[in-house]
Amino acid sequence: MTIDIIGAGIGGLTTAIALEQKGIKTRIFEQAEKIKPVGAGIILASNAMQVFEKLGLKKSIEEHGNPISSMNITKANLAPISKVDLSFFEKKHKVKNIAIHRGILQQLLINELKSPIIKLNHRLKNIDFNNKKYLLTFENGEQIQSSTLIGADGLNCVVRQNLFPNNTLRNAKQICWRGITNFKLPHKYKHELNEAWNKTDRFGFVQIAEDKVYWYALKSFKNNKNEFEINNIQTYFKNYDPIINKIIAATNNKQINTAEILDLKPTENWYKENVCLIGDAAHAATPNMGQGACQAIEDAYVLSQLLTKYDTNHAFQEFQRLRLPKAHQVVKVSWMIGKISHLSNPILIKFRNLLMRLTPTSLNRKQTEQIFQIPKL
Ligand SMILES: Cc1cc2nc3c(=O)[nH]c(=O)nc-3n(C[C@H](O)[C@H](O)[C@H](O)COP(=O)(O)OP(=O)(O)OC[C@H]3O[C@@H](n4cnc5c(N)ncnc54)[C@H](O)[C@@H]3O)c2cc1C
Repeated sequence: MTIDIIGAGIGGLTTAIALEQKGIKTRIFEQAEKIKPVGAGIILASNAMQVFEKLGLKKSIEEHGNPISSMNITKANLAPISKVDLSFFEKKHKVKNIAIHRGILQQLLINELKSPIIKLNHRLKNIDFNNKKYLLTFENGEQIQSSTLIGADGLNCVVRQNLFPNNTLRNAKQICWRGITNFKLPHKYKHELNEAWNKTDRFGFVQIAEDKVYWYALKSFKNNKNEFEINNIQTYFKNYDPIINKIIAATNNKQINTAEILDLKPTENWYKENVCLIGDAAHAATPNMGQGACQAIEDAYVLSQLLTKYDTNHAFQEFQRLRLPKAHQVVKVSWMIGKISHLSNPILIKFRNLLMRLTPTSLNRKQTEQIFQIPKL
């Protein structure tokens, strides 16, 4: 059996690796002419790293990234509001949370494929369904027959639009800037992710390599993201801690990636016949829990296990049953965090911060554990 995968993102590549290790051949079709990820970092949380350990990638990812032992929410001046200590989970699951450059991660995934078939410059345009045979038409004019198809083509998934045309993307009305810069954080921040919350905006930063810091910044907008100018980014965050200002100043504006934050309103169907969606294509979340890619990686693991146990359609059915509740939980909680992190009313902000400070460690730990636990298969 050959499985066709649309999209060579983190989800599509991890699925191809997991299937190859099970002896299943894949062909990946990617719209880009060159694999060129956005210049940003990513945090691979415990659940993703547990999967990568099973796939034999833990060591190389650890070698190319930086371990993170706590995730902190702070005020704009970096005074702590809440902290999730990850050392408990490191001991329990025997993997660390790793912050890494996206480009490096993607290259490690590509290198791991023993016999990769990645067809670049293949943007899927349309799927014709004909009795469990799928005719894939690409924008370059090529047509390919497929018997089993995985849609890993992200938020604006064409596979999903062909399967289930009625789905809704939601705009969180937040602009997001992401950058990487040559910078060494003071020692105390070296193994932490810090996200500073102010009024209708926030700023996160983390060391991803010895001399590189990845940062992201978000700001609410009323109508559209053009309300903000990249050249003014320093001004927008001038009330934040001086270290944040130094990080922004050290970044070349031309290399900052700008995007609007969107998600996919939870949908109850991820598959039809022998076509299935994974990752952002199935359950795109806002990035507020840093779990989107981790969920795609979990999908890859679960789906590859099921495809060796059951026939294709049954595997897709089981996949949806096993993965949908947690993936949707991530979508819902992420959306909520996006709202509460951008409050504008000072009284509500004070109340929120107090509530977060008073939340017992045990409760934070319990919630995190639900996310970090991967299915036993
Ligand atoms: C600001 C921000 C920060 C984030 N931080 C984190 C984090 O720290 N940790 C985390 O786990 N997640 C994070 N995420 C989420 C994460 O980036 C996504 O969830 C993840 O990239 C989804 O992977 P995917 O493979 O499903 O989709 P994608 O990464 O979107 O990959 C889809 C691939 O399909 C290709 N494609 C698209 N359409 C077509 C087509 N028609 N034909 C062929 N190819 C096509 C694309 O070119 C792309 O290569 C963040 C997201 C944002 C926006």
